[in-house]
Amino acid sequence: MITTTTTRSSFLSVEPQNSIPIPDLKKGIEDEMKGDCAKYVNQLLDAVAKNTRVDRSKLTLSDIFSQSKLNILPPRGRPGSIRIGGGEATGSISAGTATINIYQMYQSVFDLQHLYVLQAFHETIHLSASSGAYTDEQLANAAFGLLTPEEQKKNKLPNPPANASAYDRADAFSHYWDGLLTTHCK
Ligand SMILES: [Zn+2]
Repeated sequence: MITTTTTRSSFLSVEPQNSIPIPDLKKGIEDEMKGDCAKYVNQLLDAVAKNTRVDRSKLTLSDIFSQSKLNILPPRGRPGSIRIGGGEATGSISAGTATINIYQMYQSVFDLQHLYVLQAFHETIHLSASSGAYTDEQLANAAFGLLTPEEQKKNKLPNPPANASAYDRADAFSHYWDGLLTTHCK
């Protein structure tokens, strides 16, 4: 998910009890950028750069992650809530304002520490633009374009209703390209 709202200002380092600890996200991103996953992400970023005419940053994903401000935020909702984890990217590397928010997950809801890595990876891809950031819709369109015609029939782009909120719209596209990303990046 990417959001342009920058109202969240305070850095929260709360470690709520009962939440899953955050692993080494930078190392996690470096581990993802190997083999088929690296190949796919490079194709995706080349495609989104071409479509949007916004060049990719020349930095590696690891560097982009390192140059972003990381906020680890407390879990959303109550334990057992279905709104688990997630994250947001705001700002941009070029402006020095890149920020990644990662929401902690409750231990009772999920027990997959690795999901934090995939979330950080997703947000870092948003910030891999030489100026601004790539949106979920732009990344979804690029991911769709990389599929074969057969695959495109099985993985149709989301078609959110015209009255969908900006958040719900972004959420639909976010899930779409994230699903394709995780067929290559485990
Ligand atoms: Zn996203």
